[in-house]
Amino acid sequence: MSHAERTFIVFLGPPGSGKGTQARQLTDYLGLPQISTGDLFRFHLQHATDLGRLARGYMDAGELVPDGVTIRMVEERLTHADAAAGAIFDGFPRNLAQVTALEKMLAGAGGVSLAPVLVVSDAEVLRRLGGRRVCRTCGHVYHVEFSPPQQPGVCDRDGGELYQRDDDKPETIQNRLYVYYKQTSPLVGYYFARGLLAEVDGAQPPAQVQQVLRALLADRGIATA
Ligand code: ADP
Ligand code: AMP
Repeated sequence: MSHAERTFIVFLGPPGSGKGTQARQLTDYLGLPQISTGDLFRFHLQHATDLGRLARGYMDAGELVPDGVTIRMVEERLTHADAAAGAIFDGFPRNLAQVTALEKMLAGAGGVSLAPVLVVSDAEVLRRLGGRRVCRTCGHVYHVEFSPPQQPGVCDRDGGELYQRDDDKPETIQNRLYVYYKQTSPLVGYYFARGLLAEVDGAQPPAQVQQVLRALLADRGIATA
């Protein structure tokens, strides 16, 4: 596959809008990996790397990890073989400096193909983040009310323990929303101006959101519905 045919999807939307849930469901469909900078940072936290130690304070406070390390981490991830045909970004870019860096990374690869923004109210974000539970082993994401596991606290897929993220506590959630509106939401205008934005009602059930996304991809000639 030539570089010009690479596909890059950028998910936008506040924390808890469903970016990870939707991105994961598109990976098999599009044959592309999900690149979640949040997941990459959590991997570093878990393995107590230097990057993990650096990121922890920012993550616990709901602040963005500095651009330099974040951008280098994404650059490195994009060199992996599974990203040869493109990638689905979830949580990156998160400010205009990261947008510029991504453009440089994708220069010659056709740039961003589509930027869906999942639109969800703040009240819904609070409900979703408060009830989010994640499998320690496979990273699958549940919600205690909206998509509960069969057995509370246990992953349906591999029996792993479900945990609540440290930054899904009310004090941190408030700042993460603030950071989103201040630093990340300007990206909505940026991608709109370039004809790449697709507004999606993120308040619908996950399967419906996925259907809308697949129809959008088909419309743009990115995948067949
Ligand atoms: P993000 O990646 O944008 O932070 P997630 O995909 O992790 O968001 O979803 C946040 C929480 O909301 C999770 O607990 C997930 O199970 C739940 N969730 C995701 N999409 C929906 C939806 N469409 N309706 C109800 N709950 C959802
Ligand atoms: P997420 O899993 O996307 O909710 O991200 C969790 C946390 O990781 C954020 O609150 C930030 O502290 C950090 N993080 C994730 N992605 C980025 C990014 N692109 N730039 C800076 N910090 C990030």
